[in-house]
Amino acid sequence: MILSYVYKLRPSGSQSAKMESWLNMLRSTYNWCLADRIETYHYSFIQGAYCSLRTKAEAYPLTCCIVKNGATGNPWTHSGKKRNAGTIQDAALVDLKAARPWYKSIDSDVLQRNIARLNTAYKNFFDGRGFPAFKNRSNFRSFEYKPGRVKFKGSEVYLPKIGWMRFFNSRSIPDGFVIRSVTIRRKTDGWFISVRLEDKSVPELIPRPTSEVKTAVGLDMGLTKLVHCSDGSDIPNPRFATNQKAKRTQLIRQRRVSRTKKGSANRKKRAESVAKLHSKIRKRRSAYQWQVANKLVKKADAIVVEDLNIPGMVRRCKPKREEQTGRFLPNGQSAKRGLNRSILDASWGELINKIQYVAAKSGKVLLKVNPRDTSRECSACGHIDKANRDRERFICTECGHFDHADKQAARNIKHKAVVEYGLNLIKVPTDCGKPKQLNLFETPSAELTVPRRRKHDTRKGKRRVPGNLGRQLELFSQDMWNVSSTESPFF
Ligand SMILES: [Zn+2]
Repeated sequence: MILSYVYKLRPSGSQSAKMESWLNMLRSTYNWCLADRIETYHYSFIQGAYCSLRTKAEAYPLTCCIVKNGATGNPWTHSGKKRNAGTIQDAALVDLKAARPWYKSIDSDVLQRNIARLNTAYKNFFDGRGFPAFKNRSNFRSFEYKPGRVKFKGSEVYLPKIGWMRFFNSRSIPDGFVIRSVTIRRKTDGWFISVRLEDKSVPELIPRPTSEVKTAVGLDMGLTKLVHCSDGSDIPNPRFATNQKAKRTQLIRQRRVSRTKKGSANRKKRAESVAKLHSKIRKRRSAYQWQVANKLVKKADAIVVEDLNIPGMVRRCKPKREEQTGRFLPNGQSAKRGLNRSILDASWGELINKIQYVAAKSGKVLLKVNPRDTSRECSACGHIDKANRDRERFICTECGHFDHADKQAARNIKHKAVVEYGLNLIKVPTDCGKPKQLNLFETPSAELTVPRRRKHDTRKGKRRVPGNLGRQLELFSQDMWNVSSTESPFF
């Protein structure tokens, strides 16, 4: 089994300065090697040997055919085998250290892994991903050690060529696990070390086979509520990045950045505060999602979700143009932008990944179903119609079945899984009519929040009380979907 643990490092001043300088040097070699490969590719169409004006390196395009990833240097090994770009550039590291002795301060493994990183980027490109990009300070933030080089002892870690460094030992490495590769990463709030641990005797997590599934729960991801479950309960969406407060803080901090002079020390400081806000939001969201995933997995043997195409959902609207003049017409993108942000903030994909992991860990399974018609189909009679749904209300135009639209969708998702995967579910007796509600956060009571704010307002007379707070709380406790269908206003 492979685990990956992350610890926060506690480097001394000189150690962090050293790591910072390593990053700068490694970035420059990375960019140099990338430029070299691009250049060699273009030069390989030239007939005859040549010497690159920029790098002064010799290349022999006649002896080495056009390769999709070449590099300047000797393409042949002593044994007559051909080198690929990675090994040519690896061999050139000796020359690099001779020409620039300060590169000797970097561990040779780290230098080699840096070139391996470019190899991976190229490999990804040939597999259909984007072309490797030149790196700058903000997107080149890590370096890697090879397996077996880094040692752990108590709350200290030994990094070759840097020395013993303290770290926050937040969780101990389990017995029997061997340390594989180790990555050091600079983030906005300090340096981190991520360790890959492997134990071959421990089997990988295997999710439960579908034939053994006894109970299932369908989940419908949404924005007003993060998740609606097929058993009737739901989980609130705290909107970590798109709530009023976060948006306001972001606006203020972003404005502070734009008011400073470009390239100044103040701008750097301000930009850091924006980055800190984002990292805080990210951490909050991730912590909340782990909580939610654990709660959801406890519900049943199989957790069923829709196989959503999220990149497709947040795609920009197509530009509209006037035929005669070619001018751009409004295409609704400005309205969609807010929705896209909310979708990305809810980050359903991340949540699904976490559910999948927790499910596998506890011997359960995550099933994905086709999202087609889940919110349009009537769960009572199976009638599919777009008109069935009116925002949050679901009223079947065929049989008159009345339900909350998202809960209805969650039930459809569960039903789809039963059909698609051939699940053999047993009936669990439910004695209570009202579903059990998960309480992740306590709902603030009106008595607790309102008077305190009012008092502040009357004394200072400066801060405005949000006028719609009472209204918000009223909506929060509104329980309009628990009325029985006979009392419903729609009949
Ligand atoms: Zn119906």
